[in-house]
Amino acid sequence: MSPSRRDFLATSAAAALGAALGRTPRFLGAQTAQQVVFTPLRRNVGTFTMRGGTVGWLVNPRGVAVVDTQFPAEARALLAGLQQRSGNRGVDVLLNTHHHGDHTGGNGVFRGVARRVVAHGMADQHMRRAPQPATQAQAPAQQPPAQPAAQPSATQPPPPEPLYPTETFMHSWSAQVGDERIVARHYGRGHTSGDAVITFERANVVHLGDLGFHRRHPVVDRAAGASMRNWSRLLGEVVNGHSADTIYIFGHAGDGLPVTGGPAEVLGFRDYLSGVLAFVERQVAAGRTREEVLAMRAPLAGFETWGPFGQAGARDPLTVAYEEVTTGA
Ligand SMILES: [Zn+2]
Repeated sequence: MSPSRRDFLATSAAAALGAALGRTPRFLGAQTAQQVVFTPLRRNVGTFTMRGGTVGWLVNPRGVAVVDTQFPAEARALLAGLQQRSGNRGVDVLLNTHHHGDHTGGNGVFRGVARRVVAHGMADQHMRRAPQPATQAQAPAQQPPAQPAAQPSATQPPPPEPLYPTETFMHSWSAQVGDERIVARHYGRGHTSGDAVITFERANVVHLGDLGFHRRHPVVDRAAGASMRNWSRLLGEVVNGHSADTIYIFGHAGDGLPVTGGPAEVLGFRDYLSGVLAFVERQVAAGRTREEVLAMRAPLAGFETWGPFGQAGARDPLTVAYEEVTTGA
């Protein structure tokens, strides 16, 4: 987390808890609460971070939109902050970038609040198959262990019923929300088979969901249709379809790194993905066995800041790259 992002602590349940304990949320340990951070980016669009995949939001004078919901406790802090910023207006549209639990687990908090819930058709199918794995919970690399934002207590409501999409799309979807135009696009298989890239056109801000990992090894959900090769390809297509000063929101970032970046950061991640595939191709061509390849732990040459491989089991990029290279799919 960058120091600048600490400047936007929300008035929220976590902040109230911090105040009650006589300290601000930033000093609360992982055992009690994570920081609630609302960060304005550009033209009424910003990010919310607490625990789980980065949330995007839009609050303008005539509309409210939110992209992803983290987990229930986090979604309550998110909703409280959105209501504070919008004068208690409802949410015109809730979009999900994909189905994973660290992006959709708080959807139920928006029941009766969000007028529309939108996701890719495959994300909708994956979402309805419970339980959903959380990217972060199974990808501890460079992140502290995920902890509940607050311990269950008598004052905390039970987990809400899941809230599923009310409308889906296969290629693209768009809507006007106040004076902003939001477009969701699907570029084919990537982190899953149901990823959406969400563009706030006038703000020129793009939420990549988990198609964007900022300098950390991604989880690659091959069981849900992921493709590292197409993922690498589509990131170039996304950058080509936007502009040099587009701000990209990443689903996750390496420890201490920002959850936003520009085209260079997106293309750096594209090069990492193609680099892992090329590395595995060389190992296979050199006759290395599956066990030998998957036992490799050294960081990829040129991408040392990503750190060693091997931390996400069957969803580790090295494991998935081996399967893609050797099966051709
Ligand atoms: Zn994910």
